[in-house]
This record gives sequence, structure tokens and C-alpha cells, in this order.
Amino acid sequence: ITSSDLVSESYKRINEVDGKVQAFLTLDEENARAAAKKIDEKLAADEGKGLLFGMPIGVKDNIVTKGLRTTCASKILENFDPIYDATVVNKLTDAETITIGKLNMDEFAMGSSNENSGFQATRNPWNLETVPGGSSGGSAASVAAGEVLFSLGSDTGGSIRQPASFCGVVGLKPTYGRVSRFGLVAFASSLDQIGPITRTVEDNAYLLQAISGVDPMDSTSANVSVPNFAESLTGDVKGLKIAVPKEYLGEGVQEEVRQSVLDSLKVLEKLGATWEEVSLPHSKYALATYYLLSSSEASANLSRFDGVRYGYRTEQPENLIDLYKKSRSEGFGDEVKRRIMLGTFALSSGYYDAYYKKAQKVRTLIKKDFEDVFAKYDVIIGPTTPTPAFKLGEKIDDPLTMYANDILTIPVNLAGVPGISVPCGFSNGLPLGLQIIGKHFDESTVYRVAHAFE
Ligand code: GLN
Repeated sequence: ITSSDLVSESYKRINEVDGKVQAFLTLDEENARAAAKKIDEKLAADEGKGLLFGMPIGVKDNIVTKGLRTTCASKILENFDPIYDATVVNKLTDAETITIGKLNMDEFAMGSSNENSGFQATRNPWNLETVPGGSSGGSAASVAAGEVLFSLGSDTGGSIRQPASFCGVVGLKPTYGRVSRFGLVAFASSLDQIGPITRTVEDNAYLLQAISGVDPMDSTSANVSVPNFAESLTGDVKGLKIAVPKEYLGEGVQEEVRQSVLDSLKVLEKLGATWEEVSLPHSKYALATYYLLSSSEASANLSRFDGVRYGYRTEQPENLIDLYKKSRSEGFGDEVKRRIMLGTFALSSGYYDAYYKKAQKVRTLIKKDFEDVFAKYDVIIGPTTPTPAFKLGEKIDDPLTMYANDILTIPVNLAGVPGISVPCGFSNGLPLGLQIIGKHFDESTVYRVAHAFE
């Protein structure tokens, strides 16, 4: 099979189903076909060596791609063509993947359903009346619908794991610092990580391998060695100690979801692992802490979109201040504005200590909860989300219920540790996800446990 065959299959499938699924914002067919042809020539000459040689991939639209429109699903960047590639995109080029196109998301990665996209609402391929999750909904739906084999998403508060769970695919948020953020349009810089979404754990390990590593262009990328993740896919979990936080199976978690986690734990027990109930006592503050901190960081990061330097500019402003105001009012959607206002308020003088500083202190306590558990256990296991995918339109008018969907994924970002979602069952015909959380930079153990289900 050639790379051109794979690329043809990919576009064929997109032509068949993307009218309904609406995962892609931009396709790059001409360049993709040319790149595949080159790969095939190398193959014929026996010169191929990239890790993901010739594989079609989709990229979330908040990761910049040189000359290929990058919108963050926002009107404010509707016609923005970046002048450089993100580090992960350069790494994909080294691994010799083929970029098929750019994937829909919630505007600036703010949301849990893809309904906050400024352009279109991606559907869940399992049931077109339900949401694919968010914010990397396009990334998860495109893999679930068979449009691409691999995709990249980003996860600030669950945006890889929650859509992976809703769409029945595998999604990993790496340890903070494992993957360079250079060229990822910043939402909340202390939480954002790019990560792989795939159909299998094995594919996921290979894609993470391709994008990991320290980067001089991102001072928060960590100078730690990158292990061979595929080597951990042994299926051997004997002797592993698993912690199950009681907060993750309590109130608000649907019975089918709880049951599917308990069934998964039985499987691991049979394979020789043991599990115990533990507590992450500060989990109940995670949601408030996250929305305070992420909105504060977003309000600062999004100040660069001013109608002067990037993207959309209002027509006929009266003066400079008016230009800023109108460009931003017309360019940003409601959810983005809500977060900018919340963040600006929290950071304003007189309120900083009461909100931002306090939230930072709580973040430290949440991190410590994880450290305490990881002193005794190898991984933490729970559901990825409290319920399966919800219906389109069901939560969009009530931001607080929408936020509550992230309750089980957000603590992981606040602690900076890695977490994966793997399919673990169904409820009413919709997929459920099992979340496996590991120690800092121990994605290998996370993969080892995840692989036991394949
Ligand atoms: N749903 C969360 C939010 O709206 C998470 C977003 C993300 O991880 N990018 O902030």
C-alpha cells in the first residue's frame, strides 16, 4: 500500500461523510497529494525512514501551519495564513506524515462540545444528534469517522480526553512540558499541551514519540529524555498498584459510567494488578480554580488580537481605541468574550489577591493531592467524563453545566501530569472512556495500562 493510496482513501472518506460530521475547516488536498507522491518515490527507492512514513494526519486548527489557513475556529482569524510551522508540525514533517487538513474546534479551544466554533458544529459520528465533545471535537470525530488515522489535539482542561471519550477513540494529554507549545495558539499557557488522538493505544504511542522532546523555542518544554513509548506496550500489568479516587465515582457520575470503570478494574485485577480507593480531597475546588486561572491567562494571551497585528479588522473605525473595541467585539464569539471579561476582572488591581492568587494556592493543594497518591500508587484510574456525549443544544445556553462536564479531566491539567482516555464500553449506544492518569513524565506506564485493554 502506498502513501498516495492512503491519502486517496482519506479524501474519499471525507467526501463521503464530512458533509454530515463537519470535522474539517480547511483541506489541503493538492499539497497532501504532492507530499504523498514524494514519499512513494522514496519508498520505491527504499529511502523511507520517518517514524510515521506516509501516514495521513489531521491537525487541530489552533496549531499553526505555514501557508495553511489557521483560524482557531474564530472569525477574528478567518483569513489568517501563518508564516511559520509549529514545532510539532516540523516534527511531523520529520516523521514524514501527510497533513490532510485542519480540524474544527471550539473557538480558541474554549468549550466542551464544538458548538462554540465560529464556523460549524462538528457532529459525533456515533450519533449525529450528539456533540463530539470539545474543544478538540474535530480531531476526535475525524479519527472516529475514519477520515484520518491520526490527529493532533490540544488539552488545557480536558480537550483531548473528553472528545476522545465521547467519540470512542484514544486521546492522551502528555505531561506538561513533554511536547513543545511553540506554534500552538496560546489559551492558558500554564495548562496547554498538544497531544495525539488515534484509534489504538499503539498508534498513540508512536504519534507521541514523533512530537515529544525539548525545544529551544519553548522554555517550558522539559529537558528530559524521551523513552521509547512502544516498548511499554507489553500488556503486562502484574503487580501494578492502582488508585481509584472516590471523588471520581461519586455524585454526578452516571451509573453506566461507574459500572464500566468497575468492570475495567476487574479486567486489570485478573491480569495481576491491584486497586484501592483513595481520596483527592481538593478535587471539589478544581473547576472553580481552573476557570479562574485559565480565563486569567486567556485574557492576557488574547490581547494580541487587536485588529492591528493579526486577522480581522473592523471597517471605518473612528479612532485607534474604537478600532480595538470594534475589531474585538465583532471578531470574538460570546464564550471567548465571557472568559476575557472574567479573566480581566480576576487580574484587576484590588481583586488579584482575592481571586488569582487564591486560585494559585488552591492549584498547589490539588497538585499535592496527586503527589500524595503517587507516592504509593503507579496510576490513578477513573472515568473520563461523568456522562456519555450529550445532545447538540442541550448545554449551550448554560455555561456552568457545560463547565461541569470537565470536572474529571481538569485536575490533571492543574497538576501537570499525563492522562489518557481509552474506550471502555457503551451507554445507550454511545462510547464511554476510561481515564488513566500517571506520574510526571511517566506516559510509559499510562500506555502500559491502556494497552492491556487492546
Ligand atoms: N472545556 C474546557 C474549557 O472550556 C477545556 C478546554 C480545553 O482543554 N482546551 O476551558
